Amino acid sequence: MTTPLRPRHAAGHLSRRGFGRLAAIGIAAAGAAGLAPSAAAAASDGQAYYDRARLLAGDDPVLKALVFSLSPDVEFPQVPAPAPLKLFDDLVLLSVGFVHAMALLTDDGIVLFDALEAPEDADAVIVPGLRAVGADPEQIRYVVVTHGHGDHFGCAQLLADRYGARVMMSPADWDLVERTRPEHAPARDLEIADGQDLTLGGTTVRLHHTPGHTPGTVSPIFPVRWGGERHTAMMWGGTNPPGTVAELRTYIGSIAPFRAEMRAAGVDVELSNHPNDYGLQRAEQLRTRPEDGNPFVLGRQRADRYMRVMDLMLRGRLADAEAAG
Ligand SMILES: [Zn+2]
Ligand SMILES: [Zn+2]
Repeated sequence: MTTPLRPRHAAGHLSRRGFGRLAAIGIAAAGAAGLAPSAAAAASDGQAYYDRARLLAGDDPVLKALVFSLSPDVEFPQVPAPAPLKLFDDLVLLSVGFVHAMALLTDDGIVLFDALEAPEDADAVIVPGLRAVGADPEQIRYVVVTHGHGDHFGCAQLLADRYGARVMMSPADWDLVERTRPEHAPARDLEIADGQDLTLGGTTVRLHHTPGHTPGTVSPIFPVRWGGERHTAMMWGGTNPPGTVAELRTYIGSIAPFRAEMRAAGVDVELSNHPNDYGLQRAEQLRTRPEDGNPFVLGRQRADRYMRVMDLMLRGRLADAEAAG
């Protein structure tokens, strides 16, 4: 599988020579053909990218958490499930700890992003969690499954059967689910087109294809309210880097177009469906010290920097994967 990739693999090194410290290596290699192989080996090292990502993250706990999460051989600590919490006036965190669902409350029902890992999570987490914040689980109209891994659609079919919710996934990940046939997979329902708007009540969610973590990962951008303020949130649909060079390239290829969509929409809020972004700590901060402001509102620049850090870390992972051959 790696053999047919080799020519593109080599070209990839050339195209990435514009990046920071690697630029000097690239110029040196171009100027001294005899040194090219060792220069190429140095350029394969992901460490230069990881260093740049760390520098960009600085002391920002959200960005530092992302660097940690995207580093090679990372082991995530076990985390307890948080109590349900309104991250915004119209967005509820419903989590088992290592994976979250989020419910967007609109004037005409609920859009649920992801559905945790098991059918039992409906009655253990989703339904009581919504009731705890004064929302009605019978109002769940759509379950937007960010991607076709089992920890994101666990109770989707149950919510469809019980409340008539429609389950949405990208065509590529409906295919993935059908190929892998996981237990509790929902029956194929609505397909998400790239850039599709899902409007419910007065709220419009835009659904972007951001393949990489899976072939059909979807990342939504949507409005949220906090006090009298309006904000625009994004949720990156799948963070953990995939294993192969081709998949890593696909992942990196999704970042720049999504950053452009974020800028166009004025995204100033970052959310994740796993606790890889200091999200659980921020949730507790919000729960205990709401007077300090909403820590999920990063502002536009920090939200963009989040994606730049992600881009650098993924380029490092790609360089490592290429070096490993
Ligand atoms: Zn996944
Ligand atoms: Zn997951």
